[in-house]
Amino acid sequence: MMLRLSMLGMIGLMFLSQTGGTAVSASKSDQIDIHLRSRVPSTDQPGAWRLIIRPEEWKPSETAVVICDMWDRHWCASASARVAELAGPMNEIVSMARSRGILIVHSPSECMSAYKDHPARKNAIAVTAGTVPDYLGKWNSRLDKEADWPVDQSDGGCDCATPCKQGNPWRKQIDAIFIDPKDIISDDGIQIGRLFEQRGIRHVIVMGVHTNMCVVGRPFGARNLARWGKDVVIMRDMTDTMYNPKMSPQVNHFTGTSVVLEHIEKYICPTIASTDLTGKPPFRFAADIRPKIVFVTAEHEYRADQRLPEFARLLENHYDLACDFAAGRAQSSGTGIHRIENLQTLADADLCVIAVRRRALPEDQMKIIREYLNSGKGIIGIRTASHAFNAKQDVPSPDGARDSSGKPILLSQWLKFDEEVLGCKYTGHYDKGPEGTKISLSPAAKTHPILAGLKTDGFVSPSWLYTNDLDPEITPLLIGTVEGKKPEPVAWTYGYKGGRVFYTSLGHWDDWKIDPFRAMMIRAVFWTMNKPIPPVTPEAGTQGN
Ligand SMILES: [Zn+2]
Repeated sequence: MMLRLSMLGMIGLMFLSQTGGTAVSASKSDQIDIHLRSRVPSTDQPGAWRLIIRPEEWKPSETAVVICDMWDRHWCASASARVAELAGPMNEIVSMARSRGILIVHSPSECMSAYKDHPARKNAIAVTAGTVPDYLGKWNSRLDKEADWPVDQSDGGCDCATPCKQGNPWRKQIDAIFIDPKDIISDDGIQIGRLFEQRGIRHVIVMGVHTNMCVVGRPFGARNLARWGKDVVIMRDMTDTMYNPKMSPQVNHFTGTSVVLEHIEKYICPTIASTDLTGKPPFRFAADIRPKIVFVTAEHEYRADQRLPEFARLLENHYDLACDFAAGRAQSSGTGIHRIENLQTLADADLCVIAVRRRALPEDQMKIIREYLNSGKGIIGIRTASHAFNAKQDVPSPDGARDSSGKPILLSQWLKFDEEVLGCKYTGHYDKGPEGTKISLSPAAKTHPILAGLKTDGFVSPSWLYTNDLDPEITPLLIGTVEGKKPEPVAWTYGYKGGRVFYTSLGHWDDWKIDPFRAMMIRAVFWTMNKPIPPVTPEAGTQGN
């Protein structure tokens, strides 16, 4: 028995090394590990949303990719250029999907005549029988539950310096995406639906353009597939919008895509990243030069899965930054809590914001965090980050793996993360006084870029005051006081391996309503990335500076 287990362990290790450390184990290599990102209504705060990333395993034989409208040309020159840039990476992802056994459906709408003799077109036409809902034959411009559309695309979405003339110049799919004779070519929702029924397709990955139009609205698009009950997702980095930054909400073109994806994740279907097939960080367009922040959340006490996505929206819309998320379950116990999904996105991040509490992680996940921190890039720790990777006890690997001597393999912890990275040793907290914690500025705050000139003398935080043994090298910025106790720094800067570190033991969900706190966090984002700190404006929901 022991021998068999250790052999399996070795095979698993070999497989891991061959796949570059992606989370695929040998015994499950016929399944695809999918990480579905969605936004769910908060039960704590009406009107608020939580961001969750849910892992699932999909059988390739029950999965299809639908490539929407990746045409050879578009009436908008910018849109055409972005499709051309996207097509190469998309072709690589599609061929990976095909080689895993996923069905590939090419859907360049209104271009079927270009393929009348193509075997992949004949595969589609051969399917004539099958009962599917009539609505698969029609556009779907809105699901009943959808809120108002979040971007104004009434101008058609051209963002060229000289507006392009609208038309229908497309003739076929762009050549960079290879069509295998075993694939399907169809732009007919009924035909595609029948084919899915015939092939037993349960999961559909939609990619292509444009996120805010055809990807969701076409007869074979995400809305209809969701309505039909298919497990549909949009690959969020293999898409683009027709969105002009001159139109509402007047944000960067790529932030426009992010705004649309957030709406989709709330009301239509989850999204996934190409990372699930490639193991690499998500694709980014060359023109998307926004600095990238990755929020890593895994805690259940302070609603980090709500407050940090809200903060991310503020940073994207008002400060021209790009935000992505890695997330674990917002629970203190239960299966699957000692994992954080989508950490691969840290590889090209400029800043990592950590709001994690008492997690042990699989070694490959902890390695990604260590590699990021070794790179000398910025880090912000929030509240429970001081005990982020201290689970207080050994946590055996959930797959029951054992080492060669038969002992359970333990998940990885980083007990001195607080001392090494944040400059403190977490020792506990005081009880919350009736008036909360009084926050004042330290002498150093008056000249430090994160707080200098901020119009505040301090504020009251509703949260407990954390206590820490501090490294003398920290620069304290905010001091917290509860009556009868020794004052404690609650925000400071530090350094780790050349990277700038900002930590605050504040971060209760109600702290995010306090203008000076939010202003401090915005400034800390830029300071830790070693970038000029922009004016923190009233439009961004703060009191200004
Ligand atoms: Zn244009």
